[in-house]
Amino acid sequence: MKEYCAHLIPEGGFNTIPQVYGNGWMIVGDSGGFVNSAHREGSNLAMTTGRLAAETAIVAKAVGRGYRAQALSTYKSALDRSFVIKDLYKYRHMPEILRHNPQFFTTYPDLIASAARTMITVDGVDKATKKHEIVGKFRKHRTLPGLLGDAYKLWRAFR
Ligand SMILES: Cc1cc2nc3c(=O)[nH]c(=O)nc-3n(C[C@H](O)[C@H](O)[C@H](O)COP(=O)(O)OP(=O)(O)OC[C@H]3O[C@@H](n4cnc5c(N)ncnc54)[C@H](O)[C@@H]3O)c2cc1C
Repeated sequence: MKEYCAHLIPEGGFNTIPQVYGNGWMIVGDSGGFVNSAHREGSNLAMTTGRLAAETAIVAKAVGRGYRAQALSTYKSALDRSFVIKDLYKYRHMPEILRHNPQFFTTYPDLIASAARTMITVDGVDKATKKHEIVGKFRKHRTLPGLLGDAYKLWRAFR
């Protein structure tokens, strides 16, 4: 295995967490996909999974059962009880929803930036007219069912 340094953030979430223990090994941190991309957190999850794995190894050593998968399985139970798995489970739908809805990275940022520009530009146009113009732009780029569907998707991704 080679050391790598060009670091990508593993944002697959709950549904991409691999088997986390086996005979003589446990996976912690980014290598297990323990990143909460909704909150831009990874360091704290890496430290917590590392601590739980270390505690599991200490107990396995103390009871003299060696480091076979069965002895290390308590790492998975400890993970399941921790905030790490609870938080990743909470946002389990987010990666798939964002992956299949590029409008959240294209259409909406453009519309929001345009709305902000319209509102803060001092050009003698009253705010009610500007608001009407902004709503019109949203309706032009997304149908009403599209807007409602996107709102539902966002709610589902982040609830
Ligand atoms: C641009 C960016 C911004 C981020 N911002 C935040 C943030 O604001 N807040 C936050 O909480 N998290 C953030 N993260 C995520 C956070 O950095 C990671 O989740 C965290 O560092 C993972 O820790 P780790 O120990 O699992 O892996 P790493 O920190 O990647 O450590 C793995 C280490 O193993 C070494 N290594 C790899 N292969 C080998 C090998 N074969 N032999 C020996 N050594 C090897 C690597 O060089 C590396 O030093 C960010 C990540 C990136 C890329």
